[in-house]
Amino acid sequence: MAEGHAVHGIAQRLQQFVEQPVRSSSPNGEFDATVFDGRVFADAQAVGKHLLVTAHDVGLTAHLHLAMDGAFSVRRHHRALHGDFPRTEPPVHGNVAWRLLSATHHGELTDPAVCELLDEDGVLALRARLGPDPLRDDAEPDVARRRIQNSRRPIGALIIDQKVIAGIGNVYRAEILHRARLDPFTPGREIDDETFGALWQDTVDLMILGLGAGWIVTDEAQMAAAREALVRGERVPRWPKRYAVYGRAGTPCSVCGTTVRAQRVGLQRLFWCPGCQAAGPTSTGATSADPATVGEG
Ligand SMILES: [Zn+2]
Repeated sequence: MAEGHAVHGIAQRLQQFVEQPVRSSSPNGEFDATVFDGRVFADAQAVGKHLLVTAHDVGLTAHLHLAMDGAFSVRRHHRALHGDFPRTEPPVHGNVAWRLLSATHHGELTDPAVCELLDEDGVLALRARLGPDPLRDDAEPDVARRRIQNSRRPIGALIIDQKVIAGIGNVYRAEILHRARLDPFTPGREIDDETFGALWQDTVDLMILGLGAGWIVTDEAQMAAAREALVRGERVPRWPKRYAVYGRAGTPCSVCGTTVRAQRVGLQRLFWCPGCQAAGPTSTGATSADPATVGEG
């Protein structure tokens, strides 16, 4: 759940509630769900890894962040007899922070990292501290490009910084940089317009595919098969995950055979291939000796 495409997937599933009156409750008492109770659901939107949920005639927005452990399930139910609210509530399983019930659907938020109500200023402040989201139509990639090109920080730290680009998590970070054959330690200010443009476009393409598939697909053969399934209107099966570098420290790169490395960059470990990803304006870091990090993972 650390990647933005999954949050967009939840926002899509929550569309089942749009324009429906909802029962709203917080079984574990962690969320002031009563403001939504009996209201008509208006919208659910993802912004990066954040989810914003609104209802008509409620001046507050529910702001959710699921982090690593959170989940928001949406299922059809058959508890309502005449298109009204359900006669009975489903039993509570697990740590349910927010439950939504319409005449036809049952939504359940478990273990969120953030589940709070924001006023209009709070929503604006949240939006202001997030970079463009590759999955949103209103994304302005130039904002991300400027933030990268104005920074001395390594590109591997920048693209996972939600203030720069909203929605990229640790798997996409590693795979996107490997696909670009870009040294993750290249300073942002050395990323030219063309390199950034290609990186952004590949991110958009991968995340659209991830949203359609429901999981992260970055292997070329799997990507082609997933696209074919989606074009046919079929579900993309959960094939065994095949990553080029993510989670593969200490094993040979499938492209060039060089041992994949991992090192903490930002809050999480970055995986990269020093063979494929030596290219770039500078290659410091990728070639520096750091035995403590070799073979991790
Ligand atoms: Zn390689």
